[in-house]
Amino acid sequence: MSLLRSHRVPRWAACLLLSWPAAAFAWGDEGHQVIGLIAERYIAPATRATIDALLETDASGLTAGRSMAWESTWADRYRDSDPPGVHTRRRATQAWHYVDIEIDAPDLDAACGGHPPLPPGIPASAGPPEDCVVDKIRQFSGELADPGTAAPERLLALQFLLHLVGDLHQPLHAADHFDHGGNGVRVRAEHAEAGNLHHYWDAVFVRRLGRAPEEVAAQLIGEISPRRRLEWSAGSPEDWARESFEIARTRAYGPLPAAGAHGSRWLDDAYGAAALETVRRQLEKAGVRLAHLLDAALADVVPSAP
Ligand SMILES: [Zn+2]
Repeated sequence: MSLLRSHRVPRWAACLLLSWPAAAFAWGDEGHQVIGLIAERYIAPATRATIDALLETDASGLTAGRSMAWESTWADRYRDSDPPGVHTRRRATQAWHYVDIEIDAPDLDAACGGHPPLPPGIPASAGPPEDCVVDKIRQFSGELADPGTAAPERLLALQFLLHLVGDLHQPLHAADHFDHGGNGVRVRAEHAEAGNLHHYWDAVFVRRLGRAPEEVAAQLIGEISPRRRLEWSAGSPEDWARESFEIARTRAYGPLPAAGAHGSRWLDDAYGAAALETVRRQLEKAGVRLAHLLDAALADVVPSAP
């Protein structure tokens, strides 16, 4: 339950305990970049101009470039950018990347800690640490759409949105089975490094889609029909969270085999093939929905001078 979340070992600590080399907590960079590239393809030209102008003002130096694809990795970089021994940024923002809806007792409101309101006068980027990805997407969308939002906060709102809409579509960012969203489940598969279930859904299956994000994005865009785009653009972040949760329940956890003698579960070809299809579809949906959300937020906003 999310209310107990603060008493649990945080996901990052669980990852360190398990000491997997690539203990990311979101789609890996590849997944986020693919989503950013898909969104870039579908946003309106006016939205694109506003976004490009905003991203040009990013002086953080945390991402390799200022394109939408690169900036979609910013929120992970920011969370991980504390100096050694300091955990300020991590503690303030790590819970915003997921919503731990419990497999055995699904309750989105509880998983969002009862939706803590932003204190008056406090921007979303400085909101309560114990909040969920669904609430943060709503708050940052509101800020992006509000012409009165100060330019530095508008940049942060955009950077968080570029990332968090993607995270919400990683099924294990919307589900928990008392295992830190699959971080505590050891798995193995043919032609893949041993790891945990969360990492497999973050990165291992994504990498099987292709070698370069540009190549994968082009391939996925080719699969998105106008009808699907329209269908996927409907709904709210809550709907997307429930959809991700259901996918996690039926496709990530449901077909999991029992643990073997060493506590690890073997993901066979059937599991991998089904996961690949799911990941492909989730990346497509995330890109389409991100574009739609950015268009909706920025349609009537006149870009202000930085
Ligand atoms: Zn993330």
